[in-house]
Amino acid sequence: MLNFPITDGMELVVFDMEWNQPIYGKEYGFDVSALTGEIIEIGAVKYTYENGNLIRGKQFSRNIKPQVYTKLHYHVKKVTGKSNSDLLNGVSFAMAYHAFRAFIGKAQILVGWGNSDTAMLKQNLKFFDMDDDLNVYFLDLQPLFSLFSGEKGKQRSVEFAVDFYGIDKRIGFHSATSDAIYTGRILEKIFEQNKTAQVLSTISSSAIDPDVVSEFTFVGSPCASQDMAYEGARAFWATCPICKTALNEKIKRFRIRKSEYALLFCPEHGEFFARSRSKKNKTGEFYVSSVMRLATQNDYYLVACKKEEFDKYGASGAPKEEPEEETGE
Ligand SMILES: [Zn+2]
Repeated sequence: MLNFPITDGMELVVFDMEWNQPIYGKEYGFDVSALTGEIIEIGAVKYTYENGNLIRGKQFSRNIKPQVYTKLHYHVKKVTGKSNSDLLNGVSFAMAYHAFRAFIGKAQILVGWGNSDTAMLKQNLKFFDMDDDLNVYFLDLQPLFSLFSGEKGKQRSVEFAVDFYGIDKRIGFHSATSDAIYTGRILEKIFEQNKTAQVLSTISSSAIDPDVVSEFTFVGSPCASQDMAYEGARAFWATCPICKTALNEKIKRFRIRKSEYALLFCPEHGEFFARSRSKKNKTGEFYVSSVMRLATQNDYYLVACKKEEFDKYGASGAPKEEPEEETGE
């Protein structure tokens, strides 16, 4: 959640990145889990908020010459249309990142599509021994699009949203710069087509601080029954994972089909979305996989929908089972 209001003159930077992946089975001389992708392109567009409108500003674009994953992974090649020789034309990651920081300037919010870009950026900064504090909020536009378009928790691509709003598709997709431009256009449409106050409050409640770990997971030990398995996650839900203060239940936990949900509250850290799913292991025992995270707008929506269904139909859920909504874990 933002700790300041969005006011006139405030800047936002919409960005996107492309990264290359390690080639499976190849020996790199380090643990590849420390660098699951090496950034090869950063693209961005700056916006200024002014009286309910977004004013489109300058663009940013840098190609980066990778240092460790120097051969394009076939999947990345396919998606981005880049070739190995393209990689040679880039600048170093450090140069590109410093230029990007300069471009961000006093902007306090980064906007992206999907929640993987800030984690990837931090991973690259850490790997290359640079300061990995981003010191800027991050807004994932994908769930916001779902909310405002009535797509109800579905994960849609940038291209889907571009088509939804009838945005001109003259430039290609899947370069960081073009996807940042399109993501910016989608943000413009969300502002144009909805009440400003509603858009601003949704942005405020959905933006996260990427420098703070906001998601916590727990996997319970195997149990003979499902009830016992759920019981195992109770201690995990009892205290705030950040400060260990006892949590209050804003929405009391309820079980629907194979998941248990709750909205929990810490006086210092705010609201947590909590969900446990019961699973069966190979020997037929039950265990839970549980997640707790600082609640985003999409999480409120998800828990409210499930609660409504629970109140109406009980633990078995609506008779005609819809596919479980995924919000990404
Ligand atoms: Zn707390």
